[in-house]
Amino acid sequence: LAQPANTKAIETRKDVCAIFDQLNVPLTDFLGNNLIKTSPGDGDVLCSLATTSEDQFEKTVDQAQSAFLKWRTVPAPLRGELVRRFCEKVRTHKEALATIVTLDCGKTREEALGEVQEVIDICDFAVGLSRQLYGLTIATERPNHRMAETWHPLGVFGQITAFNFPVAVWSWGAMIALVCGDSVIWKPSEKTPLTALSLNGLLTQTIAEYDQAPDGLAQVVIGGADLGQALASNKRIQIVSATGSTRMGEQVSATVGARLGRAILELGGNNAAIVTPEADMELAIRGVVFAAVGTTGQRCTSMRRLIIHKSVADDFCERLKNAYSQLRIGQPQDAGVHVGPLIDQAAYSGMAKSLDIAKSEGGTVSGGERVMQDQFPNAYYVKPAIVRMPAQTDIVKHETFAPILYVMTYETLEEAIALQNGVTQGLSSAIFTNNMREAEFFLSAAGSDCGIANVNIGTSGAEIGGAFGGEKNTGGGRAAGSDTWKNFMRRATNTINYSAELPLAQGVEFGA
Ligand code: NAD
Repeated sequence: LAQPANTKAIETRKDVCAIFDQLNVPLTDFLGNNLIKTSPGDGDVLCSLATTSEDQFEKTVDQAQSAFLKWRTVPAPLRGELVRRFCEKVRTHKEALATIVTLDCGKTREEALGEVQEVIDICDFAVGLSRQLYGLTIATERPNHRMAETWHPLGVFGQITAFNFPVAVWSWGAMIALVCGDSVIWKPSEKTPLTALSLNGLLTQTIAEYDQAPDGLAQVVIGGADLGQALASNKRIQIVSATGSTRMGEQVSATVGARLGRAILELGGNNAAIVTPEADMELAIRGVVFAAVGTTGQRCTSMRRLIIHKSVADDFCERLKNAYSQLRIGQPQDAGVHVGPLIDQAAYSGMAKSLDIAKSEGGTVSGGERVMQDQFPNAYYVKPAIVRMPAQTDIVKHETFAPILYVMTYETLEEAIALQNGVTQGLSSAIFTNNMREAEFFLSAAGSDCGIANVNIGTSGAEIGGAFGGEKNTGGGRAAGSDTWKNFMRRATNTINYSAELPLAQGVEFGA
């Protein structure tokens, strides 16, 4: 995407320049004065970027459309070769890319490396998939006929992503879309543009080096909700994937639906774990702590509700508080840090407000205070909070994107599952138990109503091989592995008559 000449008003921080230099990605092409990017880790300004104008956006769609027309005729295994080459670059630059993730969204080093690894994993999956875009042969009722299903590339894929997984979520969609023969336009969160520019920069290099891949096959546009709406409303973008809050999903769904486009919605969660008296408590503590405080509670799958049997609740909560007291809160790039910063001031205000409401609804709060504000007045570090609630009140049903774990008790498993399902969101869920009957009931049709249901692991940390997503207000979309590739292709049912007769289906006789 052509950007206006460098009109930068703000010096780009040296560590950012160094990484883009190392990747050989020209950040200067994207500098400007519309979007000031700060670091969640210390609150400092990292750089200032140009946002994509309406005119530039239209040109981006033109290029994506003409790239698609070429790319759809490249055989799928050769499309896989592009992804394989891109993956090699990601492997080579894994450390540098993780540094960008940490700078951009404040994720700890360990989790940032994990996120880049997720890109590598989905690339490997997509390369294999490029030889497995299978259709069916279907029994036909007519003699000397054959019926089959073929899958074809669909068009331009537009992807809107959230700040908290600034690169993994893109790769779940984009790598699959590329092997399926689609072109890609990525609108990352305006809070994490640098990760997008670095990764898409490496992909653009790979495209330029590969004679099968047309220019404009994968592009980034920079902007906020308005740009997201421009993407959602553009009829030339056949598939729109939107990852973010339920509020955003409602708006994107309405816009895409109004033009009868295809939308994949990956929205908010309000994930719970049930801990029964038959759980391995040591394992459950570890599972709950990682899911509740990892990524500072800013995963769509973060554990927000703990539903624990009355008989073990007090003891478990004491052990949980003890585990929380040992967590290391600190700058995300430092080794051994468990809890990095919240993304911004609004996230901190949201957390503080939710804790106040929880208290007014009868909750007892432990933790939740802001820390390190003397050192970093413009960065927002908090102690993760545990809140004992008398019931599943309104605030518990709301997704607060911060490390707050609401704890409620139950007496029967049916009651626990009713609490677990008693929210509007339906993303991830878990049960901790060694009792096979409890575990299987939780996984049954009468059990968890979520897209992800786990036994003896927490709610977060999914692998790319499975389909990722959830029901109800989480939007119903699925991304990453399994058969999600079908979202990115169009299915044609073919009936071929190799006889000299023309029998009609259902035995219909047409006289003439
Ligand atoms: P957000 O909804 O504020 O923004 C997400 C993206 O949508 C951004 O790119 C933003 O610019 C864009 N956007 C916002 N309003 C829009 C509109 N009206 N039209 C078009 N685009 C619009 O979310 P966030 O704060 O970046 O991320 C946190 C949320 O994302 C949480 O609710 C979390 O649960 C959810 N999330 C879900 C998944 C999933 O796979 N289900 C994954 C990650 C995050």
